[in-house]
Amino acid sequence: MLIEENKPLAPFTTFQIGGPARWFAQATSEEEIAEATAWAAERSVPLFVLGGGSNLLVSDAGFNGLVLRVALRGITALPAAKQLEPLKAAGEVKAAGEVKGAGFSPYANQAEATRALAPEGGSSEASTVRPSSSTGSGAAAASDQPGQRIYRVAAGEDWEHFVQRAVDDACAGVECLAGIPGTVGGTPVQNVGAYGQEVASAIERVRAFDLRERAFVEFSAAECGFSYRRSRFNSADRGCYAVTRVDYRLTRGGAPTIRYADLQRALAARQAEGRELSLAEVAEVVRGLRQSKGMLLVEGDPDCRSAGSFFKNPVVGEEQLQRIAAVSQKAPPRFPAGPQPENLDRVKIPAAWLIEKAGFTKGYRLGAAAVSSRHTLALVNLGDCGGSGGHDERRGASAAEILALAGKIIAAVEARFGLHLEMEPVMVGF
Ligand SMILES: Cc1cc2nc3c(=O)[nH]c(=O)nc-3n(C[C@H](O)[C@H](O)[C@H](O)COP(=O)(O)OP(=O)(O)OC[C@H]3O[C@@H](n4cnc5c(N)ncnc54)[C@H](O)[C@@H]3O)c2cc1C
Repeated sequence: MLIEENKPLAPFTTFQIGGPARWFAQATSEEEIAEATAWAAERSVPLFVLGGGSNLLVSDAGFNGLVLRVALRGITALPAAKQLEPLKAAGEVKAAGEVKGAGFSPYANQAEATRALAPEGGSSEASTVRPSSSTGSGAAAASDQPGQRIYRVAAGEDWEHFVQRAVDDACAGVECLAGIPGTVGGTPVQNVGAYGQEVASAIERVRAFDLRERAFVEFSAAECGFSYRRSRFNSADRGCYAVTRVDYRLTRGGAPTIRYADLQRALAARQAEGRELSLAEVAEVVRGLRQSKGMLLVEGDPDCRSAGSFFKNPVVGEEQLQRIAAVSQKAPPRFPAGPQPENLDRVKIPAAWLIEKAGFTKGYRLGAAAVSSRHTLALVNLGDCGGSGGHDERRGASAAEILALAGKIIAAVEARFGLHLEMEPVMVGF
């Protein structure tokens, strides 16, 4: 496989910021994933697994190692059956967690876990599935079946492309996640979520290459350890796996999820007509809402040169909530933090609200870095990078400028509310 040298990374990121990768490879098959990672391991070269680059800030110096872009493609629809074959050894594949006996359904537990971990809503299904090894023609075979359907999606597929495919097939479960950039392989990493759904509710299993054991493994959804913007892949096992495939369980003919307040408001007039809304309509309205907030990638729109939300919404206890309300002389908006035991007495508050109350308005600028003109939570690169790669002061913001702005915001929120905002994008090469 081709290993390139000094490859500019900026064009591979939605921020369009960052220096070069010392080495760069694109894998279009699992064999190439194994090959490229072996190349890095043999040379003791650090490895970074790249998807669509939509949740990254790459340093101006770039990455002094091998950047492996996951570019495996393919979507196969499988008929969902009643029984789950346990995750078990198959060829070089080995189960990632405890393998239970036949008849055991980790998804009964997963449904519970998913409901518990999805405070913004999202449907979850408790029945089980027998994975099929069929490829290619599966979509046609499954297309007439009512009920559930498993989509086996290669990690390099564009997420939006998969959402559109699901909506076109009248399969519910990811329609509210329309318009999110990035690859399918990136979705389990931070448990992507928006507008009342998160992938934890739809993921059946994740296949990945274990970089330590040098073997392919499969995780049930329960084994992925999903919670708000979190999974084992970005916490305990950060940097340990290259995801090669994700299986999603969707509901054919299912109703769209309309639980998120903004979405309910946007759909209220249509709902008042008393007719059932289609998945396509809901996905389209979600895209419209995203665009109004600069959260949809649109060619030529400067608000798109971002990594989406730059800060996570903080989860706070009663005492902190009272302090914030006292300081701002107004109770902050709040949402359930999730029913995990540690969150029972806590609420999630919008980081955007805190940032605004700390004195930053939409469009606030620091050099070529700015707060988005449409959403306080997104930091944007104001320059026109023209896809040329690398930082050029006349053209765009540097990673250092973005971090300087982020640091200013974090310090201001901390000074005013005594609360430390956490950054959401992954930092590469710092
Ligand atoms: C305009 C905009 C809007 C956004 N809106 C949302 C939103 O509403 N909700 C939300 O949750 N996120 C949102 N995001 C963030 C981002 O789109 C998601 O996190 C996305 O899933 C990242 O996928 P990616 O393929 O681009 O990953 P990358 O940015 O390439 O990588 C992100 C992390 O995932 C890892 N990774 C990626 N692919 C793999 C793989 N195959 N195997 C192992 N690790 C991998 C990387 O190593 C890195 O740690 C938004 C971003 C933008 C720019």
